[in-house]
Formats: sequence, structure tokens, C-alpha cells
Amino acid sequence: MNIHEYQAKDILRSYGVPVPRGRVALTADQVERAARELGGKCVVKAQIYAGGRGKAGGVRLTSNQEEALHAAKDLFGKTLVTPQTGPDGLIVRRILVEEAVEIAREFYLSITLDRQSSRYCVIASAEGGMEIEALAEQSPEKIFIETIDPYIGLRPYQARKLALSLGLKGRLCEECVSLIMNLYRCCLDKDCSLLEINPLVVTGADWLLAMDAKINFDDNALFRHAEYPELTDYSQIDPLEITAGEFDLSYIKLKGNIGCMVNGAGLAMATLDMLAEYGGAPANFLDVGGGATKERVAEAFKIILGDPEVKGVFVNIFGGIMRCDVIAEGVISAASEVDCTLPIVVRMDGTLVEEGKRLLDESPLNVKFTHDLVEGVESIVGMVGLMQL
Ligand code: ADP
Ligand code: MG
Repeated sequence: MNIHEYQAKDILRSYGVPVPRGRVALTADQVERAARELGGKCVVKAQIYAGGRGKAGGVRLTSNQEEALHAAKDLFGKTLVTPQTGPDGLIVRRILVEEAVEIAREFYLSITLDRQSSRYCVIASAEGGMEIEALAEQSPEKIFIETIDPYIGLRPYQARKLALSLGLKGRLCEECVSLIMNLYRCCLDKDCSLLEINPLVVTGADWLLAMDAKINFDDNALFRHAEYPELTDYSQIDPLEITAGEFDLSYIKLKGNIGCMVNGAGLAMATLDMLAEYGGAPANFLDVGGGATKERVAEAFKIILGDPEVKGVFVNIFGGIMRCDVIAEGVISAASEVDCTLPIVVRMDGTLVEEGKRLLDESPLNVKFTHDLVEGVESIVGMVGLMQL
């Protein structure tokens, strides 16, 4: 789960991590007022669920409140496209107005999960700012990593090693050590899957400051944090993904035109690969889960059809716990409800498959049934057409 930079900074502040003074604004007038309160010279920062805003014109340095107002009028409602948003971009609905800070040095610092060692690791680099992805590819030796043993936690010597590798000495080094220790405390308490500060800066006045902040919460831990859903800004999430979340369905919108409904994440990914292999382009990832009800299947189907790009639907179900007749009933009920005339190919096998097939055969839908995966993939790609992404 994502939150905005200003929310991440509020959390960091409560853990004693120094962040610039700032106010969030929902209107251009609020931006102007905030700029005045901050003394005129400030930075106007578009709040979207993605980084790379600086290069996309989403971070503006302004010298007085009139300029801040002007920047806000330009940014509100604008779609920002950055390397992290995808081609459709994200709309700016909130703006963070911050004091403009003189920057002497910029570093990269983050804590994230290393899936290979199944541990948190702290990552630091003296070359922070906006080019960290390029640095990771071109000069990986400039990136320092400390892996955290979950039984003993992050030790101060590890934090100190990182601070020294950033070239910090004396008071700044010790400040950086406590900053890293505080970040780790925050990571554990808040169940973060990512806590990234890029850049962490040394200011002109020689203080450390977290200039940008990105926090992702681990979705599996949301049940431990009743306050998290309130932090969500739904304007930043695809509406179909919001509906899917309400029905506990794993749905991710993709760029193609073949809607996919599959049970099991592994089979769903294999299905996307198969479609791509045969020249098709999947419109989504959707895992209906193992023991879905007719209603849930119907809801999943409606979500797939809610995407205007979808020109045909491929259902790939292996009926283990899931019964094929339940899938058939769900598909029929949803497709009839929304008057779906698109071609549907259903590849099913397993529990009660003959009953499922009978239901589909008897329905008025434009549906083709098969037991065979390759045949199913070939049919839907044939009907919808090849598509180059
Ligand atoms: P993004 O990572 O999305 O591009 P950042 O918050 O990192 O956004 O901002 C981009 C750049 O703008 C930073 O690397 C920093 O140089 C500058 N910047 C951001 N906030 C401030 C600020 N409060 N004062 C001065 N410069 C800032
Ligand atoms: Mg940044």
C-alpha cells in the first residue's frame, strides 16, 4: 500500500527523523497561504503515488507566494507522467508546500525487504538525488548494503558503517546513525515494505534532512493497522483496482485487450505468459482465489468487462477446490447482467467440469469451451487479434 510523501514525512517526523517544514494543500489558495506562512521562498511539490516528479516538472522552486500560486494553478489537475507512473500518468490533486532548503550534498537511503535473504536491508549511496536507478545499473559498487538479522535487529555499528561510506564524519556521522536507527524502528512498527529517502541531504547549514520520503506498507500486515485505509488517496488508484480490493480479488490492470480470469496467482501468471507467447496481449492479471463463490466470480467478470480496452475474455480455471459449475454460473450471471457480446473462451478442467460445460453450452453467451490450454489461448488470440504492445 502506497501513501503520499507528506504523509510519509508526518510519520518520519514522529520518529524523530528531521524533515523540512511543510503544509499539504488541496487548492491553489491553500498553496498561496502556505507559501506565505513559510516565508515566500518555497518548493511546490505535486503529490502522486510515484517518484521521478522532479524531472517531470512536478517539483517547482518558487521565490514568493505569487509564484507558488502560479505553480499550483498549473499543477492541480495536471497529469504527470514519470518513469514510475506508466504512460497514462497520475493526476495531481494534492500539493505539498515546503520550505526551500539549501542543499550541500544529496544521498540515497532506504530500507526494504531483500526477498532473496528474506530480510530487511539498509541501502545507502553517496550519489543520491534523481539518478539512483541509473547508478544501480552503471556503478553498483557505489551502492552500500547492510542486511539486518531479524533476531538481533539493526546494530548501530552497521548504521555507522553506512554513514561512513556516505563520507559523513563527526557530528553528522552520529546524526546519520541515529537517523538510520529511527528509520528501522519506523519500518518495524509500521510494517513497511519500503521506506526510501531520496535524497537525504546535508543542508547548507550542515544539518541532515530527509528531503523526499516514500513509504510502502506491507499489504499482508494491513490488518494490524486499522488507521491505514484512511490514509489512501483513491484518486491515485485505478477505479477497477479499488473495486477488486473491495471484493478481495487480486486484480492488476495491464495494457492489452484480452481480459483474463484465472484461479491461482501462479496459473494466472502462466496464462499471461501463454497469451503473450501466442501473440496476444492480456488486459489484466486477475486471481479469483481458490474457493470463490458465484458472486465473487461474477464480480471479477464485471471488473474485467469494466475495462473499455477489453475485446474478449479468457477464463482459465483448474477446478480443484474451485468447482467448474460455480465458475460457469458466475460468468453467465455477470455476462448477462452487463449484456456482454464479446467473445469468451473458457478453458476449464477438474471438479464438475461436465456440469460447468453444460451450463455454458445452454447459455445464450458467445462462449467457446475447451479442455485444452493451448487450444483456448489460440482461439481467444484468433478472435481478438494479434496485438503488439
Ligand atoms: P522526486 O524524487 O519525485 O523527483 P523529490 O522530492 O526527490 O521528488 O524532489 C526532486 C528534487 O527536488 C530533489 O532531489 C531535491 O534536489 C529538490 N527538492 C525537493 N524538495 C526540496 C526542498 N524542500 N528544498 C530544496 N530542494 C528540494
Ligand atoms: Mg526523490
